[in-house]
Amino acid sequence: MQDPHPTDSTTSATPDTAAETPLPEAPTADVSASHPVSKPASQPSPVSRDHLALPAGGAGAERGLEVLRFGTPGARPKVYLQAGLHADELPGMLVLREIALRLQEEAAHGKIVGEIVVVPVANPIGLAQHGFGVLQGRFETESGENFNRGYPDLAPAVAQAVSGQIGPDPVANVAAIRAAMQRTLAGMTPEGALDTLRHHLLALACDADIVLDLHADNQALVHMYTGTALWPDAQDLAAELDARAVLLCALSGGNPFDEACSGPWWALAEAFPDQPIPPACLSVTVELRSNNDVAERLVRDDAMAILSFLRRRGALAGEAGVMPRLLCVATPLEAMQQVIAPVEGIVLYHARLGDTIRDGDLIATIVDPLGDSTEVRAHTEGVLFARHDQPFAWPGKVIGKIAGATPLPERTGNLLTD
Ligand SMILES: [Zn+2]
Repeated sequence: MQDPHPTDSTTSATPDTAAETPLPEAPTADVSASHPVSKPASQPSPVSRDHLALPAGGAGAERGLEVLRFGTPGARPKVYLQAGLHADELPGMLVLREIALRLQEEAAHGKIVGEIVVVPVANPIGLAQHGFGVLQGRFETESGENFNRGYPDLAPAVAQAVSGQIGPDPVANVAAIRAAMQRTLAGMTPEGALDTLRHHLLALACDADIVLDLHADNQALVHMYTGTALWPDAQDLAAELDARAVLLCALSGGNPFDEACSGPWWALAEAFPDQPIPPACLSVTVELRSNNDVAERLVRDDAMAILSFLRRRGALAGEAGVMPRLLCVATPLEAMQQVIAPVEGIVLYHARLGDTIRDGDLIATIVDPLGDSTEVRAHTEGVLFARHDQPFAWPGKVIGKIAGATPLPERTGNLLTD
């Protein structure tokens, strides 16, 4: 696949790497270096690093995305991995660093089958937003917008672009749709740093077979958000990562990154009901426990789990080994109870992460230091997989999430937490 940003990226080949070498350096001005694709197929897989520029921020600082590429451009399966889109959700960035290091070893042994694109720091804008002693990486401070919402919906323009090309061959349909997605993005002119960031990320990912967007929650067990059409296909990923909840939805609202990649496939399947259009992008938001949970052992385990998943999917050569047992069931996002505080006060949790909750169970007591205490109870059954790490609440604040199985009447509109 051609580089979607030929004007603002440079690519240089690096020598084949051995174990424990550092990540490839950013390219120098030597853009005449041979492109990785030109190497003979018998050589170890190439590794390269691109820099995609972003408009300068308020302070005029130069910012950009560093994109690590492994394997052969255009080869399948194409895998896209990113972390830190919510820049204060830290574990994923270390997991992708670990994965990139291990992919260099895989590349040195010629074991990368397709193309693997890795962006360990997907949000340099958010990573620079620190004030009052805390990193603020979820919302852009300038606009107040959530970094993981507002991605372009490619489906309408792509449906129009491919209307004469969709036929009985699903492989040809997938290729035509992927090409139209890239043409649609190439025809857009994003303005400002945030929209440029969204545009770069979507262009890197939208034509991939597999997209993993690594996040974390305030205080949580590993869990995943993905499209209803992608389950049970994604259960090998859930099993490898030891996920304890999987939330399914066709359209969660707000157009988060994972749905911007996968959602067009089911929109197009609906638009062309008589022709085969598979859900060709396995796109998942992976929540790697708690925002600040960055233990070395967890980083290594999560990296190994994702690499094992990629091996199972044929992106890496070799045996994946026995698949771990899946320890959760997938449930509808409409059935996930957001445990919402009705009053202001200090939160005393009674339920622990991982507890199996029954309807009516006490989740927390909210205590007013000058007055009463208020009980907050579950109104569904399922696993409590997330809590808030700051035990202070006000009316409307989400202090917990329960993966229930029965859709709840209040779960309409935008289904994700802001
Ligand atoms: Zn997040």
